[in-house]
Amino acid sequence: MNDERIHQRLAASLERLDVAHQRRMRRCVEAVSTTECIVDGQRCLSFATNDYLGLTRHPRVVAAFAEAAAMQSGAGSSALIAGRSPLHQELENVIAAFEGTESAVLFPSGFAANTGALISLVGQDDAVFCDRENHASLIDGCRASAAKFFVYDRMNIARLNESIARRRGEFDAVFIVTDSVFSMDGTLAELPQLCDIAERSGTTMIVDEAHGTGVFGPTGRGVCELQRAEHRVAVRIGTLSKAIGGLGGFVAGSTLICDWLWNTARSQFFSTALPPAVCAAAIAAFRVVIEEPERRQILASRAQFARRLLTDVGLEVISSSPAASASPIIGILLGEAERAVRVSRRLMDLGLFIPAVRPPTVAAGTARMRMSLCSDHTESQITAAVYQLREAVAAEPW
Ligand code: PMP
Repeated sequence: MNDERIHQRLAASLERLDVAHQRRMRRCVEAVSTTECIVDGQRCLSFATNDYLGLTRHPRVVAAFAEAAAMQSGAGSSALIAGRSPLHQELENVIAAFEGTESAVLFPSGFAANTGALISLVGQDDAVFCDRENHASLIDGCRASAAKFFVYDRMNIARLNESIARRRGEFDAVFIVTDSVFSMDGTLAELPQLCDIAERSGTTMIVDEAHGTGVFGPTGRGVCELQRAEHRVAVRIGTLSKAIGGLGGFVAGSTLICDWLWNTARSQFFSTALPPAVCAAAIAAFRVVIEEPERRQILASRAQFARRLLTDVGLEVISSSPAASASPIIGILLGEAERAVRVSRRLMDLGLFIPAVRPPTVAAGTARMRMSLCSDHTESQITAAVYQLREAVAAEPW
């Protein structure tokens, strides 16, 4: 049989993943509220979504979506041809105004924004320096670009500085690419330090604010705003799928950068535009981010509460800086993949959904529980979850 060989190879590879506790099963998750869901029939308190501000169910966001969806389900075309509706145009304007940039351009997803922007902006005579813990979409974008690709460790910023200074002359342009919030543990990039290096060496900063938008900064513009680095970052990438509660990605920057991306980013113009209703929902969501800052404040206080309690009960919280204590993503280090998977299963049986994150998503030996918070979580829900987690970890012989 023609396909026999490939089938054998895949079966053997899946078997290896199984043995290494790295095989992923498809689960079916029915959201009941922003903090509760039914996972394969088991009702759970959930700490598993990126819906940080509860906007997936905000009445104004849902109403805006429903009103537009009643007219049209899909865009029917790429944005370049016929898919860029008045709602797409309005959303790009709303994003540019929110971010305080000249312009913004939409992408079908945050993943597409990262790969598309990198492949378009970074040329063959260039070098790109990418944090080793950046999201897969940034790493894929760097790899797929024609540039020379370097990986750096943000714990050794002096080495990055030295490496860029030594190699700067070999390249036409150099880029530093970083997530603002690292998605597997919620730690923050030190953007001012990176910007200092960039400015000394004539290097361009590209920052993915996927988990920052709506969450960090006095007005919710992200870690760039929190760390006062906005004017030092030429290319800010965001997603509409996390705190904004919908789907889609964007790049905010100068008119020149956005026009270039509009003309060259293949993940944007060779893909169908977002459904107009998704744009309507995102427009409403940005208004909520602006008009209901208390959601952001409650989220930060819940995150601080959770981190304190986790530490008090003796669990090892991964943390970079005091500012990260307000980060709604909390990584609890367990070490071996098998242990994390078993803890997660045990919790699921008790009605608590905290995903295990394991290699290859994170480095070997650093498997962890990834708890992500929503402003709708109450302190008593968090307290119950932390004590259940402590019991489940203690019950795992290791
Ligand atoms: N960047 C980061 C840091 C992410 O965590 C994610 C999603 N997991 C993305 C980009 C991709 O965003 P989207 O889900 O909108 O494609």
